[in-house]
Amino acid sequence: MSRAKKHFGQHFLHDRTYLDRIVASIAARPSDRLVEIGPGEGAMTFPLLKAAGTLTAIELDTDLIPRLRERAADLGTLEIVQADVLTVDFTSLATTAGQPLRVVGNLPYYISSPILFHCLEHIDAIVDMHFMLQKEVVDRMAAAPGSKIYGRLSVMLQLVCEVVSLFVVPPGAFQPPPKVDSAVVRLRPRPPEQRPDVDPKHLQAVVRAAFAQRRKTLANGLKGLLDADTIAACGIDPKARAETLPPSAFVDLARALGR
Ligand code: SAM
Repeated sequence: MSRAKKHFGQHFLHDRTYLDRIVASIAARPSDRLVEIGPGEGAMTFPLLKAAGTLTAIELDTDLIPRLRERAADLGTLEIVQADVLTVDFTSLATTAGQPLRVVGNLPYYISSPILFHCLEHIDAIVDMHFMLQKEVVDRMAAAPGSKIYGRLSVMLQLVCEVVSLFVVPPGAFQPPPKVDSAVVRLRPRPPEQRPDVDPKHLQAVVRAAFAQRRKTLANGLKGLLDADTIAACGIDPKARAETLPPSAFVDLARALGR
């Protein structure tokens, strides 16, 4: 086992039971184009490579790469991209592969939200995503309106993807153990015709402002972007709080901002 590097968010999965559950949830087939973010020591990489025959792994830590290559030799074609995943263009990967990607990973938790937003930017290149993340983040991703943890991440993800929290993984399943529980989540992009036709900049601006101070009313939170009359004209109560609105309401507000 290599020494885990804290600054790379390295917690290697060692528990066979949870590993098998993740691999079973992904259910990789030989026709799949799998992309794994952060293969580490290859816990998920090797069983997935065996199932799919081909896998592209994106790993930032150069020290891990020689062993990954060595151990993958008899299992299939492992393409390793040594890079920060946030700089990897998934759309070109899919174009080169000639088909959209299935993206998987036990993510480095220090950049889990940026990775999710990066994937959203390449949503047309992705069939589905299976990620292990802090449980608290998965709960926020899947949260429904009205809940205390419903927020920016819930709205932005749920508008474009179906979000399903699959199961919880305790710290003891990893080496070294993280401080918090983890969970595995499945994200399936909605068909393009079901995704909101709205300027992403407007949507981001509205959602960011609305949730910046959760206790404020919508009219107060959106001050400088939309006035109370415009909010009311969208059929939304300006006195409501952002956390009570369904994701579709933010699309209406973003469209109003664009007018
Ligand atoms: N998949 C392995 C497992 O389940 O045992 C390792 C998971 S570990 C939580 C996260 C992995 O992501 C590490 O291998 C780490 O080096 C890698 N990593 C960290 N930051 C990264 C980045 N910006 N881009 C790509 N990989 C990164």
